[in-house]
Amino acid sequence: MNTDNVNQNLPEIMKSLTKITHLIIDMDGVLYVGDKPMPCLKEFFAFLRERSIPFILATNNSTRTPQEYVKKLAGMDVKVSPTEILASGQAVARLLAREYPSGTRVHVFGMPALKQAMMDEGFVVADENVKLVIASMDREVNYQKLKTATLLIRGGARFIATNIDPTVPSEEGLLPGTGSMIAALETASGEKPKIVGKPEPTMYQLAMEQMAAQPSTTAAIGDRVDTDILGGQRAGLTTICVLSGSSSRVEAEIGKADYIFTDIADLLHAWKNELRSH
Ligand SMILES: [Mg+2]
Repeated sequence: MNTDNVNQNLPEIMKSLTKITHLIIDMDGVLYVGDKPMPCLKEFFAFLRERSIPFILATNNSTRTPQEYVKKLAGMDVKVSPTEILASGQAVARLLAREYPSGTRVHVFGMPALKQAMMDEGFVVADENVKLVIASMDREVNYQKLKTATLLIRGGARFIATNIDPTVPSEEGLLPGTGSMIAALETASGEKPKIVGKPEPTMYQLAMEQMAAQPSTTAAIGDRVDTDILGGQRAGLTTICVLSGSSSRVEAEIGKADYIFTDIADLLHAWKNELRSH
């Protein structure tokens, strides 16, 4: 088991896992890869519940609803509530609902889960006379959809992107991600979108707000240095990189993650060891 703490220069107060009171956890590559749960997944959540450590599972992926994540995790013997899930679609909707009145018309370039997220916050999803274009991953993208969104943005609708992850890992290799779709819209419209997902700190801030958490005692756990870890650093959190997904140890070290662990089993082991030695 590898339990090395890479950043020996952190102030003493931040160096201990036992100081963490709240967690914001990425899902894909951290809790599972595809449909395969990580080792000790169940034990990890049992530990958090037992220690009363509140958490939010935060993902840039906007293609599933919170209920679908609850179901996916239930299939791995882990019980979470929909309110413990924050996907980028929910983050966008929640954020924009503070700025725009209920009933504001928006166009959604994305999957049904994103449309649902916008409607849940009182927005009306439409294809014309819209104030906003919300763009994300659309697995059924075609020229007509690109055309509609482009013309609406060119016509003055504000351009919002859930995230800009360039690729999605899969068994077949790296596939086009949300960022690839956003790039097409950006090129065609000549406009840069406002980005909400990681590495922007927004999702972490929303999650902290929801838990009434302080950055000084909150940690972000993720497998991607350029989104999860960078976003966590921008939000002022302790960052924990696990090597069970996208980023390598070298990338995690260059990205100055506060902690680097092989996977959540390794993190759990180190955390329990620290508690024992306290
Ligand atoms: Mg991930």
